[in-house]
Parts: sequence; C-alpha cells; structure tokens
Amino acid sequence: MSTGLEALQQAFKQLRLSEVSMELPILMREAEQQSWTYHELLNHILSFELDKREDKNKAKRLKWAKFPYQKALDEYDMTEQNSLSERQMKQLKEMNWLEQQYNLILLGPPGVGKTHLAIGMGLEAIEQGYQVMFLPMGELMTILKTSEYTRRSQIALNRIKKSDLVIIDDLMYMAMDQREANQFFHLINHLYERSSIILTSNKSPDQWGELLGDEGIATAILDRLLHRVEVIQMDDESYRMKHRQSMFT
Ligand code: ADP
Ligand code: MG
Repeated sequence: MSTGLEALQQAFKQLRLSEVSMELPILMREAEQQSWTYHELLNHILSFELDKREDKNKAKRLKWAKFPYQKALDEYDMTEQNSLSERQMKQLKEMNWLEQQYNLILLGPPGVGKTHLAIGMGLEAIEQGYQVMFLPMGELMTILKTSEYTRRSQIALNRIKKSDLVIIDDLMYMAMDQREANQFFHLINHLYERSSIILTSNKSPDQWGELLGDEGIATAILDRLLHRVEVIQMDDESYRMKHRQSMFT
C-alpha cells in the first residue's frame, strides 16, 4: 500500500470510513501542528468518523419520526401548568422510563399541551439515540388497514414495530370496528415489553372500552398498556385559549 495522503484517503474510503477519508488532510495537518501522539491521532480519526455517523443517524431518525412540528421540552413553560412538577419533568427527560419500557398516557382536554409534551419527549429520545415514531391516530389506523396491500404502509408498520418509542396522538377520537380493534390489539401486543408508547387522549381509559367496541379486546389492550404506565392528567386551562390572539383591538 502506498503511504501518500491520497492513497490513505482511498484506503479509508474502501473501508467505508468516508467521513474521515475527506477530513484526513485537515486531521493530519492538525496532528503535526499540535504534535499529537499516535494515540491522540487515532482517537481523533475514529471519533471524527463516529461523530459524523451519529449526526447522520440522528438526522435520519428525526426524518423517520414524522413529527408534525418540532417543539422541545425546553419550550414547554412549566409555570403555565400544574400537572407536572419540575422533578417529574427532570425524570421524564432522563428517559429511564423508556429504557424500562414504561408507557406514558397524557390525558386532558384540547389545548393543554399533550401533543407538545409528546413531541418534546420524542425529540429528547432521538437526541439520546432512540428510534421514535409519531402517529396521529387516524394515520395509524390507515397504516394498519392497508399494510397488507401497500408497500408504503408495510414499511411504516415495520418501522413502528422496530421503534423504541411509539407516540400515538389523539387516541380514540374515533370509534373502531372489530377488525380495526383487532389490528390495533396485535400492534400493542407486539410493542408490549419491547417498546414504550406515549398515548395522548381527551378520553379517560374507562371510556376507551366503548370506543373499541369489543369488550374483550378493549380489556386485553388496556391490560398491556396499563401494566407499566405513568398517567399524566393535564387539566389546566387550555394554553391555546389563554394565549389566543384576538383580531379585535
Ligand atoms: P393538546 O395536544 O393538548 O390539544 P397542544 O400540545 O397542541 O395541546 O398545545 C396547544 C398549543 O399550546 C401548542 O402550540 C403548544 O405548544 C402550546 N402549549 C400548551 N401548553 C404549553 C406550555 N405549558 N408551554 C408552552 N406552550 C404550550
Ligand atoms: Mg393534541
């Protein structure tokens, strides 16, 4: 192997270390200027590649998550609400619950920040290396219904099943028929003890049964969802209403 810089770059590329391959001239120059030890040089080369890869992975995970918008937990004003203490918020951010496959259920009327919190949690999870998927309930049902026929839905379903965190937004705003309830059960059963689920809903779990139609399926779904769960009841005044803009002056 030739030891010229270009040959080295080519070798890195062949080994699929393309990021470092491009950066090599800069790294080598810096190594000389700063008199890096061999150890330091190797360390810089490897961490450069790893960091770049993680950046790319994060961007990919963010795209896959399909958030409708991005609002971070830091943008959630704790003084505007009484549902979560600072300590609880800190624990949520630490994501141990995700590591332990706990589910979160965010309940409350429209406008109190359920979706915002769910997205914020999803963003934090992606930041910490997890795979996340955000699904409005209607879209999830479409995916389940069409996954046998369309490749697009098949891919989406596989992604859901592989996610560490699945966010289902506005659960049960619509009633399901038997077949839909069945498919929903199969998904929850698959995710159970493998992933965490965040559910947002303006109906309490004791009302979910009637929306799911079948009593047996409803019980089976609730059983799994509620086995390891933290329920956050958000009953504050709607943030949206409180901060609404008026066209009258
Ligand atoms: P929900 O899903 O409960 O209907 P959203 O999460 O959509 O409510 O919140 C409605 C709007 O109010 C969003 O723009 C959200 O960012 C904002 N919001 C709600 N609660 C807060 C809060 N505590 N701090 C900052 N923004 C908030
Ligand atoms: Mg919402």
